[in-house]
Amino acid sequence: MVLLQIAEPGESVKQPVERKVGIGIDLGTTNSLVAHYDGGELNVFKDAEGRALIPSVVNYSGEEPVVGFEAKAIDSGDTIASAKRFMGRARADVSDDGHIHFAGGDVLAFETSTGAKTPVEVSADILRVAKARAAGNFEKDIDGVVITVPAYFDDAQRQATRQAAELAGLKVLRLLNEPTAAAVAYGLDTDEEGVIAVYDLGGGTFDISILRLHRGVFEVLATGGDSALGGDDFDRLVADIIASRTAITEPSVAERRALLAAARKTKEALTDAQMVFVDARPFGGDSEVGVSRDEFEAAAAELVSRTLKACEQCLRDAKVDAVDRVVLVGGSTRMPLIYDAVAKTFNREPLCTIDPDLV
Ligand code: ADP
Ligand code: MG
Repeated sequence: MVLLQIAEPGESVKQPVERKVGIGIDLGTTNSLVAHYDGGELNVFKDAEGRALIPSVVNYSGEEPVVGFEAKAIDSGDTIASAKRFMGRARADVSDDGHIHFAGGDVLAFETSTGAKTPVEVSADILRVAKARAAGNFEKDIDGVVITVPAYFDDAQRQATRQAAELAGLKVLRLLNEPTAAAVAYGLDTDEEGVIAVYDLGGGTFDISILRLHRGVFEVLATGGDSALGGDDFDRLVADIIASRTAITEPSVAERRALLAAARKTKEALTDAQMVFVDARPFGGDSEVGVSRDEFEAAAAELVSRTLKACEQCLRDAKVDAVDRVVLVGGSTRMPLIYDAVAKTFNREPLCTIDPDLV
């Protein structure tokens, strides 16, 4: 897909045309990514440690914002996560929930010890890191950026995303719907026609989109999902299982956090293993605790079924009975129970050969 090879009318196609270089950024709620595609090869830019993901987390304790894994490691009220949830929202729409502290005033901003930070500013800091990573890995000058946004983002949310890019010194070539990007990643834009479902289960959100492809153009027929359902909820289930096997009664805030971190690791390990053992001592337990995939899946069945209900609703909204393709996106779709449930619901084997973090 060549986005930017533009010849003026009358120009011969054989004439050398100026080609601009665009990078693509997935500005996620939990994780972000930056990549370049030259029509042949896809290059996802990595950090010095070889990690592709940039956790969408920024810490504002010091003079300079700290972004990504480093920010995640700093445990303080100045660490802002999931800023994307608040893009384009008004102060009146949100309230403090004990985890996030909003600054006073009319503008929606997070309270930090170095001042109030708006969701646009937080996103800009993530985009700056993505841009620097691309620039450091790339010999050509970068002319602009394509940023993916949820298909359901309204004008205010899209505008906020554009502002964040401008603040980061990036020229926005276009905003691309996330499900469309996933469909393109699987090369579905070369299909003639078709109806495509994109099932995206990330860290904190679930999105389902039904697209129609017609003559190479994707149309969003319907979107649905649950903005408060994601991998984090599965972590809490595992944390409950672990806690129920130990003498933990009233964990401190730090113990609860350590428990959730261990639960997430356990959940991710259960994607490949049938049984995982966790050392419960760091969070008030007295021994190792075993968690089996079967009991995890039994506990998780209710969450999965909520996503499937949203899929059925989305199919009704799209006014289609069946889909031709199903694409899995988001780290949480690695869980085997998701694959099976989605295959059954749509009566199609989902496409999942591309890493769901990168797709
Ligand atoms: P977002 O789109 O919200 O930025 P991601 O697509 O990066 O989020 O998904 C992050 C989620 O994926 C986390 O909840 C994480 O625990 C989960 N995840 C990552 N790897 C696995 C795995 N192997 N098994 C189960 N869940 C996983
Ligand atoms: Mg995502």
